[in-house]
Amino acid sequence: MTTHGISPEIVAALAHALGQGGVTTDAADMAKYLGDWSGDHRGGALAVLKPASVAEVQAAVRLCGALGLTIIPQGGNTGLVAGAIDIGTVGGAVIISLERLNRIRRVDADNFTLQADAGCVLQHIKDAAEDQDCLFPLALGAQGSCQIGGNAASNAGGVNVLRYGMARDLIVGLEVVLPDGELWNGFSGLRKDNRGYDLKQLFIGAEGTLGIITGVEVKLFPRPGKVESAYLGLPSFEMAIALFRQARRASSDLMSAFEIIGAECMDLARLADPTIVAPVNAPVHVLIELSSSAAIDLRALLLDFLADTMEKQLVTDAVLAESGAQARAFWAIREGLVEGQAKRGYHVRTDLSVRISDIPALVAQARQFVAREHPGWISQAYGHAGDGNIHFNVLPPLDLPEPDARARGVAITAGLYDIASALGGSISAEHGIGRTRQRAYWAGMSPVHRRLVTALKGAIDPNGLMNPGCLFAETETRS
Ligand SMILES: Cc1cc2nc3c(=O)[nH]c(=O)nc-3n(C[C@H](O)[C@H](O)[C@H](O)COP(=O)(O)OP(=O)(O)OC[C@H]3O[C@@H](n4cnc5c(N)ncnc54)[C@H](O)[C@@H]3O)c2cc1C
Repeated sequence: MTTHGISPEIVAALAHALGQGGVTTDAADMAKYLGDWSGDHRGGALAVLKPASVAEVQAAVRLCGALGLTIIPQGGNTGLVAGAIDIGTVGGAVIISLERLNRIRRVDADNFTLQADAGCVLQHIKDAAEDQDCLFPLALGAQGSCQIGGNAASNAGGVNVLRYGMARDLIVGLEVVLPDGELWNGFSGLRKDNRGYDLKQLFIGAEGTLGIITGVEVKLFPRPGKVESAYLGLPSFEMAIALFRQARRASSDLMSAFEIIGAECMDLARLADPTIVAPVNAPVHVLIELSSSAAIDLRALLLDFLADTMEKQLVTDAVLAESGAQARAFWAIREGLVEGQAKRGYHVRTDLSVRISDIPALVAQARQFVAREHPGWISQAYGHAGDGNIHFNVLPPLDLPEPDARARGVAITAGLYDIASALGGSISAEHGIGRTRQRAYWAGMSPVHRRLVTALKGAIDPNGLMNPGCLFAETETRS
């Protein structure tokens, strides 16, 4: 898609509101805001606006409204569903990047809360929490680039959901610039507040379709001084789920991660880092982590549990991390999968969720479907299995030209969505809908759900200013 023209008068008006460095229309300067992390999508924009204060965000939104310009909010641009870039469903929007709104505002170690500008990079928030001997548990591969506002807008999950919940569970307050430019201050610092509707929840996971999040207040936790990790080998996904059930009970709720990796994915991890060696030799790998801030002998707990599960032959091979470096090496395998796939080029990428007990059926049915109907394509199954979340991805044969692979990928994606839906699952466990899943999202909606979603959008953004084409098709936005 090409960048549409924008008149010098409009650029001058925007520059007047946002000052030097606040408006970019130069194609080279805009390039990094127009492509997604995976390299799958490129978009276009009239301009990239970079407000440096909440007042400037308000001014930019008001001006865009007056000029009839639609807005795409953008955080770290690490989303995987083209929510923060216009891939051609509408065209002619401006991107508002939050990158200059990046201050930690306040850490309240007694209240166990931290308030920050929405453009703060997640890693900086985690570091600021750690400086107060606290933990902000949201953890994902993109944490060095994604922003807390983007995490809120996409209700990010990650590896610690099992213990601490998703972004939705970790946020106590939000500040949002509404589509008419007015500021909604939803900060109270309160953990319990039952005064009517919990409005912040509307904006969490809304993917920038209801307003621009400018500030976020998150929950902190005591920093776990003790962490134990083990990398396990198992015969099957069925055994992995049986192991999960047992681990949950045996770990006294101290389990903070339970990641599952089909052994076939190891080649992908090695694409990200060729030095990676699988710690175990088995069809299914599980990375398990226990953590605690209290003086509990986690290692003894883990050893007891492993002795029992090995005796029952649930686990056939196990390596316990002997150092922080070895634990990081285990995680490098898990995190290398996403990077390795991106390096391999175009592929079908899903983040499905089903009931935890249905994970073996999901993986088995999806593998059979690919082998039967798309021979030569390579199935990959891994994910945050403790949350029922499986990334079932499918790589095209290396000799298939990319346009052919993309065309076939549409049918493969639809088939995988059908399998998850038939099991009562979701087509998006954590990455969201964005633009790439917009049609599938609407196709799977009941009429009542559709009416409620449309009414909410119409009430908050009646002119369809915010992120058109994301979640809603343009016609749905304006109806
Ligand atoms: C290597 C890698 C690993 C990942 N792992 C995970 C994972 O484990 N779990 C997970 O959930 N996701 C994961 N993701 C996806 C992505 O990192 C997350 O969805 C992240 O939360 C997006 O944050 P962002 O700041 O990059 O948002 P962006 O990509 O910039 O935007 C995402 C959406 O939020 C909207 N938005 C952004 N900022 C704002 C704002 N301030 N106000 C209103 N709307 C806004 C955008 O319009 C868009 O719709 C991963 C991505 C990568 C590249």
